[in-house]
Amino acid sequence: MKRVLFAAAWVTGLLAGVAQAATVIHAGQLIDGVSQKASSRQTVVVEGGKIVAIEPGFRKPAPGDRLIDLSDGTLLPGFIDSHVHLASEQSRRTEIERYTLNDVDRAIDAVVFANRTLLAGFTTVRDLGDGSGAVIALARAVNSGKVPGPRIIAAGKAIGSTGGHADPTNGWSSAIEPVGDTENAVVDSPDAARKAVRQHYKEGAQTIKIMASGGVLSLETHGAAPQMTDAEIRAVIETARDYGFKVAAHAHGTEAIKRAVRAGVDSVEHGTYLDDEAIKLMKEHGTFYVPTLSAARWVHDKAQDPTFFPEVIRPKANEIGAQIQHTFGKAYKAGVKVMFGTDTGVSSHGDNAGEFRLMVEGGMPPMEAIKAATTVPAKFLGLDDRTGSIAVGKLGELVGVHGDPLKDISVLEHVVFVMKDDTVYKAP
Ligand SMILES: [Zn+2]
Repeated sequence: MKRVLFAAAWVTGLLAGVAQAATVIHAGQLIDGVSQKASSRQTVVVEGGKIVAIEPGFRKPAPGDRLIDLSDGTLLPGFIDSHVHLASEQSRRTEIERYTLNDVDRAIDAVVFANRTLLAGFTTVRDLGDGSGAVIALARAVNSGKVPGPRIIAAGKAIGSTGGHADPTNGWSSAIEPVGDTENAVVDSPDAARKAVRQHYKEGAQTIKIMASGGVLSLETHGAAPQMTDAEIRAVIETARDYGFKVAAHAHGTEAIKRAVRAGVDSVEHGTYLDDEAIKLMKEHGTFYVPTLSAARWVHDKAQDPTFFPEVIRPKANEIGAQIQHTFGKAYKAGVKVMFGTDTGVSSHGDNAGEFRLMVEGGMPPMEAIKAATTVPAKFLGLDDRTGSIAVGKLGELVGVHGDPLKDISVLEHVVFVMKDDTVYKAP
């Protein structure tokens, strides 16, 4: 009898041991997202999905614990990309895919792209526009643990005006009947804008994106012209506030940026033709700037090949693509608050971390660029009680690289360790 009890206790203990096994990470260098300096030779312990200990030196793992040896590398908080499109990826086939792909194809693509994003070290993303509805569904699936991927804050369809950057039938022959619902995001009055925000709430969006100006990759002539009135933008924002949504404004042109900032948007995306007055307004209103340098670089590169884009897109890609890097440097130096965002889905999913290098090239110190992808967006998204920094009690959303990103920022493009939801998705 005694022996049976002993064996039962041993089995129970073993099972408990397995269930509660800790992940013990030896970090040659630790960047916690908060401190101005990295600390060297630290042990971080994750148990039950949470960081339970951070200690100087390398603690020996207990039997059954998993050791992650990053003693030659750097441990960082999981990265946050504040501007992605998980349900699409630009290519020469983009235009034809508007007619050949179904929403279910987009949904399956989104699962693949989300996985690539996670393995590149991004444990949270803000998805700023998906016409298929796939990303809202994917956000539910990932956030409930059914599918691996970064935590997703989804905007659903971007809201814009007729003929504008978010009009899904732009450039179509009038002979083609639009299929499905194209109305809920195309608004031409404050009332329609209010209805669109409420519809997004109903569909499960968690944030709102508006197209305040034209865009580069839509079949329209003017990439920078304003496309929403002051009253329409204000109606979106007032309604969004009722539901606790933040509002992001896609805006290239100066007038569109100013309208959006004055109306109170939370972030300006791209911001290509930010002038001194717009910079001043953004500082006064505390508006965040998400430069999307990766997308700018990508469209500019592709514009050099005369066969890549439709003719209406190529001059916009060439001009706007070249301008953003310059604008970013100017805005950062002037003191505008910057958040890391790539517009991935323009550039390829999984290449997100290339943005760090472009930010540093634009004049941002490496530690600031890292904060723009960790603590800063975590606070913006209201997730700073859970993620964005490495501290006891936060979730174990962690990324590791070989080498020192403060000396060579490009090492962040080669992530060797990714942990989220108490699961090690990539190990060195
Ligand atoms: Zn975008």
